[in-house]
Amino acid sequence: PIYFDNHATTQVDPRVVEAMLPTFTETYGNPSSVGHLFGEAAKELVERSQQTIAAAIGAEAKEIVFTSGATESNNLAIGGVLTQRRRRGDHVVTVTTEHKAVLDPLEQFEQRGYEVTRLAPRQVGDPLAGQLAAAQVAEAIRPDTSLVSIMLANNEIGVIQPLAEIAQICKQQGVLLHCDATQAVGKIPVDVQQLGVDLMSFSAHKIYGPKGSGGLYVRKEGPRVRLQPSIFGGGQQRGIRSGTLNVTGIVGLAEAVRLSVAEMADESARLRQLRDTLWSGLNERTTGLHLNGPELDHSEARLAGNLNFAVEQVDGEALMMNVREIAVSSGSACTSANPQPSHVLRAIGLSEDLTRSSLRFGLGRFNTAEEVAFAVDVVATAVDKLRKLIA
Ligand code: PLP
Repeated sequence: PIYFDNHATTQVDPRVVEAMLPTFTETYGNPSSVGHLFGEAAKELVERSQQTIAAAIGAEAKEIVFTSGATESNNLAIGGVLTQRRRRGDHVVTVTTEHKAVLDPLEQFEQRGYEVTRLAPRQVGDPLAGQLAAAQVAEAIRPDTSLVSIMLANNEIGVIQPLAEIAQICKQQGVLLHCDATQAVGKIPVDVQQLGVDLMSFSAHKIYGPKGSGGLYVRKEGPRVRLQPSIFGGGQQRGIRSGTLNVTGIVGLAEAVRLSVAEMADESARLRQLRDTLWSGLNERTTGLHLNGPELDHSEARLAGNLNFAVEQVDGEALMMNVREIAVSSGSACTSANPQPSHVLRAIGLSEDLTRSSLRFGLGRFNTAEEVAFAVDVVATAVDKLRKLIA
């Protein structure tokens, strides 16, 4: 089978593996053991990684906190602000199309008496379906709003949100802004100063790094961002996130970020071309396809490697069963731990039937033009076959 599920996770780049290997058998010291050379060498690796990541996103090294991935980063950002800032108020603003790693922590706080406003983005039929207008955030902010949490790039439909505009509004209102940039860092230019975010989550395994390693940017300049830790222990990382640092994962994260940012311009042009070829190829072979999310010629509003579409007149499950030669993800999410139809596709107003018969391609670094041609054939053949069965 050919892998096209690069929004779910990615193959680790051999160059990233290479960078990580010495940490297993040579630089295996504990970065907190500053009394000897092994600890010092590990500490230096962590600091260098911090500098690499900071430079890639326009931050300062001391603003990077290492975590086990974006789920933890989102939980730390949301929980850390909400428990700390309770005195300002209990209100949070977010979007219905966020990842569960934002929606679920917020739901936990809601059950404890916090109030959550979930904004609805532009709907199916709009050329920018899935996008939020900054004015919606302005209208939703109240005197008791403590936090706005909005993702930069969506993992299902690739839509890119106008974060810089949203940040201006938050700043004017004195509200902290958290951004889940897991699908954006390394794929589109991300600069925390230009974006104006206060907190930003990212993860290694979406950009050809290892699973279980991620980070949270926490702004130090300007209005102070104070976070209540959620993991207590040895006081590592200034007490914000205790636990022996995952040096291997941190080195992998830094190398993954460094490579993705260095190669971004060429790679995103290549992916956009592959993605457009995939879409035009599918439409030449098949009728009744509906693009989900922003139109492809709005390239600033959509990730280059993302394609998500619904197939008319086929059963979603049967479709997935008939495209087993390619690894893609389905709108019915029948392979996930949570067998619910995609909340993102429903949030943009897609019908239940079309949601179920949607496919998501995440094209990535290791995909080729031949593989894309193969995918066109697999999907078109499956659709023909299924439609003949019901005809
Ligand atoms: N946020 C977004 C937008 C994602 O796509 C993912 C990936 O599943 C996550 C958060 C969770 O990241 P992690 O797997 O690093 O916990």
